[in-house]
Amino acid sequence: MAILKVAQMGHPVLREVAEEVPVDLIPTPGFQSFVDDMIDTMREYDGAGLAAPQVHESLRVVVIESMDNPRYPDADQIPLTVLVNPKLTSFSQEMDEQFEGCLSLDNLVGKVRRATSVKVEALDRSGAPIVIEAEGFMARACQHEIDHLYGKLYVDRMSDMKELYFRPEFIRYGRDEDVAEEA
Ligand code: ZN
Repeated sequence: MAILKVAQMGHPVLREVAEEVPVDLIPTPGFQSFVDDMIDTMREYDGAGLAAPQVHESLRVVVIESMDNPRYPDADQIPLTVLVNPKLTSFSQEMDEQFEGCLSLDNLVGKVRRATSVKVEALDRSGAPIVIEAEGFMARACQHEIDHLYGKLYVDRMSDMKELYFRPEFIRYGRDEDVAEEA
């Protein structure tokens, strides 16, 4: 088990388009232990998701999980999901706005408009194809994480920069009813 260092906004790796994972790399011990390290790192920092570029690997790998987070008792529960080479293959027309955090924008929270449901095609960590039809928080998490694979951060998608807060002020001035998980 290893906790990996999380790149912060300004590090060029967060702005690169990540590389596809070669399918023959997936079963290798090196790749499998990298996925384990991503999971450990996400859990260590109470993240709801993590993309490989956030830990300085420009590869198309994402992990997502949100189970019984004491900070967000009312948030949707998302079992551990590993997505290799994920693609968003469809979006709903319907959008909504919610606050998001990101482990690469430490301590910030911003309001972002996203599709309320999406379809994602990917490989799982054994290399088997999977299709996920996601709604609500899972749909948002998929969009946030897959954006990382294109070098995009949530602030790029904000339409009103007045809705960007430092987390202590966000909580102090009464916006903490709006869930803002780190991803
Ligand atoms: Zn993020």
